[in-house]
Amino acid sequence: MNKVILIVEDEEKLASLLSDYLQQAGFETHILADGLAVVPWVREHGPDLVLLDLMLPGRGGLDICKELRSFSTLPVIMTTARIEEIDRLLGLELGADDYICKPFSPREIVARVKAVLRRTGGTANIQSSGLVMDESRYQAILNGLDLELTTVEFKLLRFLAANAGRIFGRQQLMDRIYPDERIVSDRTIDSHIKKLRKKISASGNGEELIHSVYGVGYKFERQE
Ligand code: CA
Repeated sequence: MNKVILIVEDEEKLASLLSDYLQQAGFETHILADGLAVVPWVREHGPDLVLLDLMLPGRGGLDICKELRSFSTLPVIMTTARIEEIDRLLGLELGADDYICKPFSPREIVARVKAVLRRTGGTANIQSSGLVMDESRYQAILNGLDLELTTVEFKLLRFLAANAGRIFGRQQLMDRIYPDERIVSDRTIDSHIKKLRKKISASGNGEELIHSVYGVGYKFERQE
């Protein structure tokens, strides 16, 4: 599964150039030009990293970064056209993982994206619940124990955990887990969730991390 990079950039040419370079480096990309579209897209798709421009139509990068940080530790690289902005941004402690000044070379961006992904180790969003997810091995560790998940279970858990507190219907989960639109019945998701919950419960001293919401779907939530 390729990592998905969300490129938030309103300069069309720059966005498509970045997208080309990142795709050549083996990433999947998605481009958004409107600041207002970013948070909903992130919640829906759970990308692996966001390249976030500071000056955007609709909503500024600063504001977006703050909101992303309120629900996720998803890696964020902020880009800005003004070098003097960077000191100010650092001072604000927004929690972005890196800051890059324009103009930059697409190669530099690819290198920084890789460096940030290496550093954050693909365990974004999730550490708070004693759960560590190793993307490269599809391995989920809960309270130090390997949950021994199947690939589908891993993807389900990763998606739900990255969007903790939000309820997803079966169809939404299916769309996320089977993007190739294979025909999968509701029961398939239920059965994967059931097995996943069993494994979590066994490793987590009976603690539930995935809750079913009657008639609606599922959500990930840590009981404090
Ligand atoms: Ca801009």
